[in-house]
Amino acid sequence: MNARHIILVGAPGAGKGTQATVLSDVLGIPHVSSGDLFRDNLKRETPLGLQAKGYMEKGELVPDDVTVAMVRDRLSQPDCNEKGAILDGFPRTVEQARSLENVLEQDGKNIDTVVYFQVSEQELIERLTGRRICRNCQAVYHTLFNPPKTDGQCDVCGGELYQRSDDRPETVQNRLQVYFEQTMPLIDFYKEKNLLQSVDGQQDIETVRSALLDVIKA
Ligand code: ADP
Ligand code: AMP
Repeated sequence: MNARHIILVGAPGAGKGTQATVLSDVLGIPHVSSGDLFRDNLKRETPLGLQAKGYMEKGELVPDDVTVAMVRDRLSQPDCNEKGAILDGFPRTVEQARSLENVLEQDGKNIDTVVYFQVSEQELIERLTGRRICRNCQAVYHTLFNPPKTDGQCDVCGGELYQRSDDRPETVQNRLQVYFEQTMPLIDFYKEKNLLQSVDGQQDIETVRSALLDVIKA
């Protein structure tokens, strides 16, 4: 099988990570989340993590050159090299999208499809402020929409659940603003390349999953 590159685009809270986990299992393609890569670097206090910290805390985008270098490095690892990637949260600017094209082109690879998750702003705010993450395995929950079986504890690994500091209401507003200004132009960018498919991300998690599998033809 050739390496497949599937991009999930949508606002913070649109459900990209939740669906990427499922898609990754179904297709056997690694899930590459730029946000998870940054958070992992931050936890390990690497120079990259320290560089990204201030931007992440404010809900700003980390500069393109830093972000592209990090993702390029991840894509060059054997699993992605062989199978491709489900890209979640990257690219987030047109500049990043152009860089990704170049990186893939250099290896004779291309983008399979881009799926856009459409969700209203009100719903995004509710999803982000109720999101909880497993400190150990990064599984994603929601206090109301997708609660764990035991309060505060991950169903998958038993790890402790926490709220991301950038999911607090003060930062959420800025992240949505940044999305509308800097990431939305990607929708037209990929539409013009005939790569864009849309999914109604406002439906419940299982319905979104089957709509997504339909457009991906999994
Ligand atoms: P993203 O990766 O796009 O930022 P997540 O997958 O982390 O979004 O989802 C954001 C929050 O919304 C999480 O708390 C998740 O459990 C919840 N969520 C995801 N998809 C849905 C859905 N279809 N309906 C309701 N809540 C959802
Ligand atoms: P996420 O987990 O996708 O919500 O990302 C969390 C934070 O990491 C964002 O608010 C940014 O500060 C940073 N980040 C993640 N992906 C990117 C990207 N593609 N470009 C720039 N910054 C990013």
